[in-house]
Amino acid sequence: MLSIYTTYKCRTCQKEFILLTEDVDSMPKDRYLACPYCNSKRLSKGKGTDNLNECMKERVYKRVNGALKQVR
Ligand SMILES: [Zn+2]
Repeated sequence: MLSIYTTYKCRTCQKEFILLTEDVDSMPKDRYLACPYCNSKRLSKGKGTDNLNECMKERVYKRVNGALKQVR
């Protein structure tokens, strides 16, 4: 079964965003996805998820990790 949400990461500005898988699939073929922050077309598709909270938790964890690295 397809996941409800799909995460994308911009390879230009490194920001992440989440889209509804269903909406992306129903997009016309002549359209393309672009980063909402810098309008780049260089996106890498992340893993899908059914749980938006799971996505958020993962992001917070990464941020905590980053902060720990900065302290040392
Ligand atoms: Zn971007």
